[in-house]
Amino acid sequence: MHNNDLLNRSLAAVWHPCTQMKRHETLSLVPIARGSGVWLYDPDGKRYLDAVSSWWVNLFGHSNPRINAAISDQLGKLEHVMLAGFTHEPVVQLSERLAQLAPEGLGHCFYASDGASAVEIALKMSAHFWRNSGKPEKSKFISLQNSYHGETLGALSVTDVALFRDAYADLTKQNATVVNPDSRDAAPGESAHDYALRCADQLETYLQQHHQQLAAFIIEPLVQGAAGMAMYHPVYLSRACDLCEQYGVHLIADEIAVGMGRTGTMFACEQGEITPDFLCLSKGITGGYLPLSVVMTTDKIYRAFYADETARGFLHSHSYTGNPLACRAALATLEIFSSDDVINTNRIKAAYLNSIASPLREHPKVKHFRNRGMIWAFEVDSPHADFAQRCFTLALQHEILLRPMGNTVYFMPPYVISDAEMDLLVARTLLVIVQLT
Ligand SMILES: *Cc1c(COP(=O)(O)O)cnc(C)c1O
Repeated sequence: MHNNDLLNRSLAAVWHPCTQMKRHETLSLVPIARGSGVWLYDPDGKRYLDAVSSWWVNLFGHSNPRINAAISDQLGKLEHVMLAGFTHEPVVQLSERLAQLAPEGLGHCFYASDGASAVEIALKMSAHFWRNSGKPEKSKFISLQNSYHGETLGALSVTDVALFRDAYADLTKQNATVVNPDSRDAAPGESAHDYALRCADQLETYLQQHHQQLAAFIIEPLVQGAAGMAMYHPVYLSRACDLCEQYGVHLIADEIAVGMGRTGTMFACEQGEITPDFLCLSKGITGGYLPLSVVMTTDKIYRAFYADETARGFLHSHSYTGNPLACRAALATLEIFSSDDVINTNRIKAAYLNSIASPLREHPKVKHFRNRGMIWAFEVDSPHADFAQRCFTLALQHEILLRPMGNTVYFMPPYVISDAEMDLLVARTLLVIVQLT
């Protein structure tokens, strides 16, 4: 009764994101009262293993004592101050730490509070750089097919997921796309590496013809998340970076989903051995606690804005830029990475999950089982047109939070997941797949 009351009040007063609200006539909302580690609990104590890290943000579990302590400590000192004309220890420390961790040369941090805003900032900075450099005609962008970079109007203009893009197409200045190097699209007998190089050749053709109008190429390094966890070979990154350099086009690495250790290295760019012109981070940066994003860039870009005229400076501001609480959560998150040797520990965890996943990988209705770092994905050949919805509902009955994208099921668990929890995740997912195929 208590629960139903909350659900009805939510449906009456809250417009939920990424949701056709009418579906909730038949599909119940899930009330969550508290979280601990990989588990979310409803008010009656029923638990769900958060296999999607609450939309890819949580890294070290819900209600993590170390991140809680950092935020509590900061609460007693300073909750917020505007960052124009003022500064504070947490934002300075975070910028210094990030510059040490990121690919060499990204020494300037610009903050915002969500991923889409970070993308807006990178796009604006890139085009403004070219204007300040006497090339105002370089104002267009390209992205990969099936790219996802967020849902504000500027971010949508470089997003190629039809569902999100088409409804608002009239409001955006849609940019061009180039073929994506998704390993699943390789020709029979062609390696992921060779296919990536073949796609890079097509990128080169495009750059040759259009570089004079192009400000930047924006890319999700290694894994295109919202496209359905499409994975590609790192050689594409190296080649794309060289080509962008050669043709005078910026490379924007959108690591909002793949940064912070998700692909097995701290940043996905490391696997292509590249330094992009812009690196965008968000989602995991506060461990999943508070909204924060950052765009990191080079001295060369920074210098092009450094002048006497206000209008040559970068024009973007928002109320909560560099919020101290969020910065402390991010610093505590980085501290866990180093004190717990997270990147190496995750390698062992990923190897364990792969070692127990054979029943899933070899299931006759499972296709393209793939893994990169702490991301797993596969397609399910199911007779149900509403597979994603059924899978979500059935998995919840088995204590697992899965949120398939179409017929793609994926795991993106918090890094604190234990061996026993991985056993449970794989076994329960298999039960669900068997019931739906
Ligand atoms: C989630 C995401 C975004 C947008 O971030 P929001 O915080 O949801 O605005 C942008 N790019 C990528 C690659 C993402 O996964």
